[in-house]
Amino acid sequence: MSRSLATGVGSTAVAVLAAVVPLGAIAGPAAAVAEQPNATAEESWPDKVVVGKSAQGRPIVAQRQGNPAATKVLLVVGQMHGDEPKGPVVVRSLRKRKVPVTGDVAIWSISTINPDGQARRRRVNARSVDLNRNFPTKWRLQGKGGGTYSGPKAVSERETKEVMAFVSRLRPDAIMSFHQPLNTVMAVCDPKARPWVRLIGRLAGLPVPNPRNCKAANLWYPGTFNKWYTAHFPGWFATVELPASSAVNRARIRRYTNTIVRIAALMEDAPGQTAASQ
Ligand SMILES: [Zn+2]
Repeated sequence: MSRSLATGVGSTAVAVLAAVVPLGAIAGPAAAVAEQPNATAEESWPDKVVVGKSAQGRPIVAQRQGNPAATKVLLVVGQMHGDEPKGPVVVRSLRKRKVPVTGDVAIWSISTINPDGQARRRRVNARSVDLNRNFPTKWRLQGKGGGTYSGPKAVSERETKEVMAFVSRLRPDAIMSFHQPLNTVMAVCDPKARPWVRLIGRLAGLPVPNPRNCKAANLWYPGTFNKWYTAHFPGWFATVELPASSAVNRARIRRYTNTIVRIAALMEDAPGQTAASQ
């Protein structure tokens, strides 16, 4: 079957997403598999869906390019932190590209999962929570009053819930999530992601130093999107840290966009990760 992209939800994808993925069902891989729809090839998601809404009611929108029935899916997230503006610029550039509908890969992109933070140019969401510390894997209460506040409990934020529900339905083979300004790609310590992280670094011109101490590195950044996805899904996740905005000119945007398109093309030839592990 054409797996996760074909759901039979037609034009009411949003309502069905909410109805079919109760929050209690998205905690782990077994639940995610159980939520796989009985798909037929003719019925597929529309090429644009509202993933959900932010705390202040702004829509979080995902768009698809490429083959709707592809067996390989790359998800690109332009922004989690509202004061990191260049990822959404890369997504805007990506959406102008032609991704062949004859290939076996689809690219889904979300410009920002934190539209409230983006509107205020703040890292955190409207409730002062760092969404990238609010995911349930290795979640730890931390940082209240600062830029890395975890929230009062794991998945306390609407944006986190909506993104988890969407990813659990889509089951992408890979996620590239953009941040700033560390000028690197993470996490090379994760064996699933390592070759892709190095490749993205080379293609995008972002340095990926050899890890000194992966055990220590794994303790950093509790409750991240990366940790949650990596723990519950067979695919790989790359956190793409662009440099500071002053260093991101048009040529760089083009290069980052080219990198996404190239990675998607290479995923077509990679062994099927989702199928192999289900
Ligand atoms: Zn960030």
